Amino acid sequence: VRQAREELDVFSKKLIQAGVPGHDTAAHEETFFQLRQFFNSHRIDETAYFLSAFEDFKKIIWEFADQLKDEFKDQKHNDQQIDGQFKELRDAVESNSIEKLREKSKEFISKYVEVQNRKDTSKAKRMNSIKKNLNQFKKKLTEAQHTLNHDFLTGAYNRRFFEDQVRSFATTVDMGDSKSVMMILDIDHFKKINDTYGHDIGDFVLKECVTTIKKMFTRESDVVARLGGEEFSIFLPDYTMDMAIKKGEEVLETIRKQAFVHGEHQIKFTVSMGLSEWRMNDQLELIYKRCDQALYEAKNSGRNRLVVADKLKVAV
Ligand code: GH3
Ligand code: MG
Ligand code: MG
Repeated sequence: VRQAREELDVFSKKLIQAGVPGHDTAAHEETFFQLRQFFNSHRIDETAYFLSAFEDFKKIIWEFADQLKDEFKDQKHNDQQIDGQFKELRDAVESNSIEKLREKSKEFISKYVEVQNRKDTSKAKRMNSIKKNLNQFKKKLTEAQHTLNHDFLTGAYNRRFFEDQVRSFATTVDMGDSKSVMMILDIDHFKKINDTYGHDIGDFVLKECVTTIKKMFTRESDVVARLGGEEFSIFLPDYTMDMAIKKGEEVLETIRKQAFVHGEHQIKFTVSMGLSEWRMNDQLELIYKRCDQALYEAKNSGRNRLVVADKLKVAV
């Protein structure tokens, strides 16, 4: 992240210089070209990171299945059902789909437990060993799942998980009589915090900001995520706009009042928020757009406040 930030700073400076009269346009073109190249390789790095986390996840499942299969062989049982299930699991591992993998692992485990349960000899011993394996497996899976779903710096959910949650909420709930709200929150003048205190304290502020927000959205269904940089999103299923405004004002007030202490520094900052209701059949992109415009309005009208999108005219 830091490397990307520094490179972007260099590009920004070059582009600003290019605006000065008499500057050579070929150099300007070259900077744009480098900028494009930079984003391309950044995307590739990101994809590689995601894929390696997913590969770890697959490896864990595969090792576990192997372990069970070996145990099975030792017992000289050859159960066709388990074999079939094992093949399906292998296909799922190779399919590169998280959903399929999740579904097939669940099926595999329950089938395995069911088959083992049917065998009567030394059942207690076997159940103990299954329990041990399953606990280990659960622990590893939880760790892998955490990496896939969370932002590594702040511990908030990441954008991918956030969007999955919002989309799956929209498909599983009858939105006719259920209202939800999405908020986008952006730290005000965060660049100044970095410039004044350095990036480490900037990172500290990001983490503290998440801790504060998470304490205020405590329902199991609330999703607090980091969209990137100093921008966060909060999805509140089954929530009215009135409730969201009240809660949003509380967040603004809490952050406004608090001094975040790091060594000898007492850091104070404010945030701005854009809110939008989630209406039936709304696409995620549209909600983002509404929240973004509301946030823009909040920034433009002085920051340290919230604006509700539904009161603005949003060009779609
Ligand atoms: P505004 O009130 O308009 O939102 O101004 P701002 O300064 O908060 O916004 P701007 O977009 O100008 O600057 C955001 C800065 O956040 C720039 C970028 O270097 C910094 N940033 C992004 N990600 C990180 C991070 O992970 N850690 C730290 N320390 N800084 C980050
Ligand atoms: Mg900001
Ligand atoms: Mg921002």
